[in-house]
Amino acid sequence: MPQSNRLLAITPQEFVKYLNDKKIRKFYLVYDKKNKKVISSHKELKPLADFLNADKRDFNSHEGLFFRVSEKYNTLQGAFIHRTNRGQAAGGVRYWSYETMEDYIRDGLRLAKGMTHKNALAGLWWGGGKGVMAHNPAHSKKDAKIRESLYKEYGKFMSSLKGCYVTAEDVGTNVNDMANIFSTTRFTTCIPEKLGGSGNPSVPTARGVVAGMEAAVKFLYNSGLEGKTIAIQGAGNVGRPLVKFLFEKKVKKIIVCDIFPENIELLKKQFGSKKLEAYVVSKTDTSVFEKECDIISPCATGAIINTDTISKIKAKIICGAANNQLEDPDRDSKALHKKGILYIPDFLTNRMGIVTCANEQYGYIDNDPFIEMHLDKNWKYSIYKTSLDMLKESARTKQPTAKVAVKMADKLSLVNHPIFGHRGEEIIKALVKNKWHTAE
Ligand code: NAD
Repeated sequence: MPQSNRLLAITPQEFVKYLNDKKIRKFYLVYDKKNKKVISSHKELKPLADFLNADKRDFNSHEGLFFRVSEKYNTLQGAFIHRTNRGQAAGGVRYWSYETMEDYIRDGLRLAKGMTHKNALAGLWWGGGKGVMAHNPAHSKKDAKIRESLYKEYGKFMSSLKGCYVTAEDVGTNVNDMANIFSTTRFTTCIPEKLGGSGNPSVPTARGVVAGMEAAVKFLYNSGLEGKTIAIQGAGNVGRPLVKFLFEKKVKKIIVCDIFPENIELLKKQFGSKKLEAYVVSKTDTSVFEKECDIISPCATGAIINTDTISKIKAKIICGAANNQLEDPDRDSKALHKKGILYIPDFLTNRMGIVTCANEQYGYIDNDPFIEMHLDKNWKYSIYKTSLDMLKESARTKQPTAKVAVKMADKLSLVNHPIFGHRGEEIIKALVKNKWHTAE
């Protein structure tokens, strides 16, 4: 097997062993814009650079990928920086298990690019990036001592990157972990409220979903949400306030399912059963997608819009909070378009998490105008306005909405920060020049 394939086919833990054997603790893969190719910090890792150079699917001239093995607990920690024209790369750090190095690298590449799109469409002065820590199966994810050590080290890693990437909370990372990161770096957001952070963003996220729905019904029916029927998958932190906001909009009926009976009971207690149909499902039950309704709102897990569920959907609109709703973005966005279903992409509607975190350092005001503008109808980057612009462009060009949204986001993401310009790129250049990979 060629070495490039070998390094990609092994598990992250086997890769860590490979690095340890070669006495490599830190390495990078950085895009050389002039020569249009990725360079690696170590010749032993050139096969990874070659893989990125040849990849057409997930690699998108990402500006820099930085990695280290933690000093304790042999854990691979990475920072994937996609684009920093609009500002420091921002996005959460995921703590997850991966079967192969290829899975690990592809996930980081995709997630980082996704953050570029989300941040740019939101009009934020932030670039896009993502952290990924590969869980070392030799250690329990639940061990508080291990987590404390890993996340404190992750913070030090952020400090060493000099601010080209600013991390945040993501899947597998919790608020205590964020406090540990914050104890060793200033380059993080989404810190706990007691340390000056912005707190749980689920309520604004639910409001963002409502704004996306309002744009879709305006476009399709020239109406508001009154009289509409909405089916929601997931009655969690976003799903529950979403029900409340939709009833305030005088919808006709809401159908909700969840795998936890207590979440369903909570809703029934709060809203009765006259206009609410709430039921418990098994994890694999996708019956909510078959319901006669106007809007389907995925607010549970990702990859739920796929060939199977698309064939069942009767609604004309999909708009929810769940991340990465399309199992295969290209295939599924085309299928939805062909079926005449308006899909409002998750990275447009669920931005309020990163929006509330993004500018924590500027302090807080009640009904903060810098938060509220994302939820109003007039601001040019608001969820409502951007969704409407995207729907109109999709109708004009006969392209799937997700494709149009990515195009809009890509264009915005290449605009340089009005004060700092493309500074992230300069920071990465300096890290390379100063041999970041050899420093302690
Ligand atoms: P949550 O965990 O509080 O709620 C998810 C709910 O979905 C849970 O109640 C869970 O029991 C239910 N669920 C899981 N699998 C299900 C299934 N197969 N069928 C029906 N119900 C199922 O999460 P949340 O904070 O409400 O977020 C919902 C989604 O939105 C997640 O995908 C999350 O990543 C995404 N998101 C949330 C925010 C936020 O601000 N909370 C921001 C951006 C994106």
